[in-house]
Formats: sequence, structure tokens, C-alpha cells
Amino acid sequence: MTLKQTQITDIGLNLTNERFDKDRKESLQRGLEVGVHRHIITGTTLATSQSALELALDDALPCERYATAGFHPHNASENNPASWQQLSGLWQHPKVVAIGETGLDFNRNFSTPKQQLDSFELHLQAAVALQLPLFLHERDAQDEFLELVSHYRCGFNKAVVHCFTGTQAFLVKLIELDLHIGITGWICDERRGEHLRSAVKLIPNDRLMLETDSPYLLPKDMRPKPKSSRNEPAYLPYILQRVAHYRVQDTQELAQQTEATVNDFFEIGQD
Ligand SMILES: [Zn+2]
Repeated sequence: MTLKQTQITDIGLNLTNERFDKDRKESLQRGLEVGVHRHIITGTTLATSQSALELALDDALPCERYATAGFHPHNASENNPASWQQLSGLWQHPKVVAIGETGLDFNRNFSTPKQQLDSFELHLQAAVALQLPLFLHERDAQDEFLELVSHYRCGFNKAVVHCFTGTQAFLVKLIELDLHIGITGWICDERRGEHLRSAVKLIPNDRLMLETDSPYLLPKDMRPKPKSSRNEPAYLPYILQRVAHYRVQDTQELAQQTEATVNDFFEIGQD
């Protein structure tokens, strides 16, 4: 699918991932050709946050690019006073538009729950101090996540729960907290994405943003099936189309709304 009128933004692109090493530029170019003109490149460690910023600044690459900087819950164990201080420096850069990826993931516990909770809280405090948007991740930690986010909600300005895959009841709570929601190609998974298909209708127009989370989460119901299992920016219009379908909404209208939301949320695209 090619977008004729409205260009769209991938708010969750793991462009630092080694699966893009061979064709980083070409992947962005293929996306641009189908209307994916902007990217928020995800940082998940000190090293990938630094690389995300470098990629955001690389004039040899196509598209408009920004970065996030944070410790993913998987990497919370790497958050120590020295690395935290270095990470904090990245938030001063105008191309770094959000604090994160941060949050809680008790599904695999690559870092201990205690390390995750401590690291997440530091990111929340930084967002309160700097008034930068938060880029959040949650998996199998709904109660602890809601407790911490609610505690800091009066202090921070904006947060997006990226790659939302939770229950409808959890979604309602996030919307009540006036958070933004990022939807990926998870919705294209016939089995795992089923509950998301009805839940996605509950997201207010001005709180919904789209992302590929590539190279992860290739949309499963694309036909013909892509040869590679790697997801990439060029598949975002397909995700847009599926989300519009399940929201019973016009695709162009949804594209325009999500673009306006991205501009507003990350405070980009005004010039
Ligand atoms: Zn994530």
C-alpha cells in the first residue's frame, strides 16, 4: 500500500539493531517511497541511545530522524551512576525527543524486578525534571506499572505506552491517566492480536500513534508474505491500514490524525 496524500511517522524503529547493518539506508528509502517520512529511533541502552542519536544526525540517511535515550527494562541492570550520568547528557540534545525506552518487563526478567523498578523510577523522575515525553514499555507488570506511573502522573507531561499488547481493562486505565498509545503490527497476528482488534477502538483519535517496532514484529497477515522475517519501516502503511480497518475509520483520516498527534507529542514538525 502506498500513501498518496499523507505521510506517516514510525515512532518505534530499532534502527541500531544489527539486522539493519547491511541495508540501513535502503530500508529507510523503501519506507520513504511508500510515505513513511519520519522516524523516532529507539534507544534501549547507553550504547544504543548514543547510536540512535548518531543515526538521527547522519546526513547520509534519508527521512527526518529523531532519537530516544533510555534503559529498556531488559537492560535495567546496566543502569548505574556512571552510565546514568552519560545517558542524562543525551537528553540535552534537540534531536533526542523522549526519555526511554523504559518501563517494566516481568515476562522474561532479563534484569531483576528490583533493578527494573529502580531504573524506571529514575526515568520517571527525569521526565518530571526535564518535562520531556516518556517512551514506555510494559509486559506482564500491569499493577506495578500503573502504581509507579500514577505516582508520577501529576509531575510528567506526556508518555506513550509503546507496542501496547495488554488487556482492554488495562488500556482503559492508561487512557484514564491520559497516556498515549503506540500500536504495532501485533494487531496483525490472528491469534495474539485478537483482543487488540476490539480494544484499539477505545483509543481516542488524539492519543494514538503507529510504529513498526522493526526489526521485530513483522505483521503476520501480510500477503504475499515477505521473504524475510525482518520487519521494516516500509510495512507501516500496512499497519495503518489494518488499524484503520479495526477502528472502522478512513485510512487517510487516521494517517492525518496520527501525524498531528506525533507532531504534538514529540513537539516536532512545527517548522
Ligand atoms: Zn518495547
